Amino acid sequence: MKNKSFAIIGNPIAHSLSPLLHNYWLDKYKIKANYSLLDVKENEIEKITKKIRDGRINGINVTLPYKQKIIPYIDKLVNDAKSTNSVNTIFLDSSNSLIGENTDVYGLQAGYLKKIDEAENKKVLIIGAGGVAPSVIFALKKSKLKNISIINRTHEKSIFLKKRFNFLEILEWKSLESELINFDIIINATSLGLKDSNDFEFNFSRVKQSLIYIDTIYNPLETKTLKFLKENNIKTFNGLEMLIYQGQKSFYLWNKINPEIDDQLVNLLVSKLK
Ligand code: NDP
Repeated sequence: MKNKSFAIIGNPIAHSLSPLLHNYWLDKYKIKANYSLLDVKENEIEKITKKIRDGRINGINVTLPYKQKIIPYIDKLVNDAKSTNSVNTIFLDSSNSLIGENTDVYGLQAGYLKKIDEAENKKVLIIGAGGVAPSVIFALKKSKLKNISIINRTHEKSIFLKKRFNFLEILEWKSLESELINFDIIINATSLGLKDSNDFEFNFSRVKQSLIYIDTIYNPLETKTLKFLKENNIKTFNGLEMLIYQGQKSFYLWNKINPEIDDQLVNLLVSKLK
């Protein structure tokens, strides 16, 4: 039988850990396939989707900046992709329709929200309103959190998100530092803290001692803010769990095997981030 082929598309994409993750599982479950990186320009998206339609590629993950831009080339958005209008996993179904699904929502639920006791009663602040924000908001909603605020440097983007998710409370960017103390869970969904990038201009020193801080960033494994909070005995999560769990669901959708997240895999991923 012909080897299968999977890939991740995005731009830039060189630092993605998805090939390592998926090739580990493909190897472990003895599936004859390869998962590669495709650095794709916007005008090449359609060409990639055609390759899935004609069977040259069996499935793709989609990352920044194409999670919305790919939608016009897909036949059907399903489940969480429909609710968020954000697609990160694509495949052809048994009737040859090109399906767009979102596994980031599952990544957030399985990686973090299921591990937080009585999450439903907690007050949460999402910092950031970019491409990943709809998945964060919808994961919180699915996990039954009711009190959700959002804050973003560009205010209009928060307003845009409120049109889809009308339960959101919008806060002003300039009030971020003083608002931190009011929340039980804070999720950094910005790129502040990414390797070789800017960070928050202040320390998160005025927060609840019971705060749970979730950083969607995994490179570095500990952003300056996460490290500061951890040193102050605040419960923190980095973005690696989300990455692994969204990958686990994509793998299942393509191969109908729920791959195990074992220590060897985690160590392999962590070793690449050192
Ligand atoms: P986008 O580029 O769509 O959005 C970037 C966000 O960061 C916007 O809210 C933007 O604000 C904010 N931002 C950027 N620079 C600054 C700055 N100097 N000051 C204040 N705010 C800033 O990215 P995504 O939404 O796709 O990704 C956001 C984060 O989520 C990234 O760090 C990414 O690594 C992480 N992520 C993690 C995943 C995982 O599996 N762990 C999966 C997907 C994403 P503004 O709107 O004002 O520009």
